[in-house]
Amino acid sequence: MPETKKNNAVLDFKCLEENCKGVVKFNLNELDVEDCQVLCPECHRPYEFDAALTDKFRKLANLVAALRDAEPILGSANVAVTVPGGEVKVPYVLLLTRLNTMITLDFGEKKVDFHVLVEPSSPEVFR
Ligand SMILES: [Zn+2]
Repeated sequence: MPETKKNNAVLDFKCLEENCKGVVKFNLNELDVEDCQVLCPECHRPYEFDAALTDKFRKLANLVAALRDAEPILGSANVAVTVPGGEVKVPYVLLLTRLNTMITLDFGEKKVDFHVLVEPSSPEVFR
């Protein structure tokens, strides 16, 4: 599969297996909706995502795609964050691309924190 720079959104989470330090990673855009399974790189425990979870991943992928599409306007939008001594402006696009976003989803009986890593489509976005 050729590597596409576009819409590269990687999710990772810590393996749920006790004593396993593996981090399971997968690309949101490479998820096959019909057969959604990833393996832990350490213990090879398979993780299957049910329809509800897969649906959330798909929504997340859509969100990432929408953000990607909106980059030209997001690049000039800022979020004002109040800090002691004033206010700083954080470019909106950084919120989802540069900072690690975390999403907590129900995975079977457990709540699992998924880290979302979104690569900027090009370095010029952050001039
Ligand atoms: Zn594992």
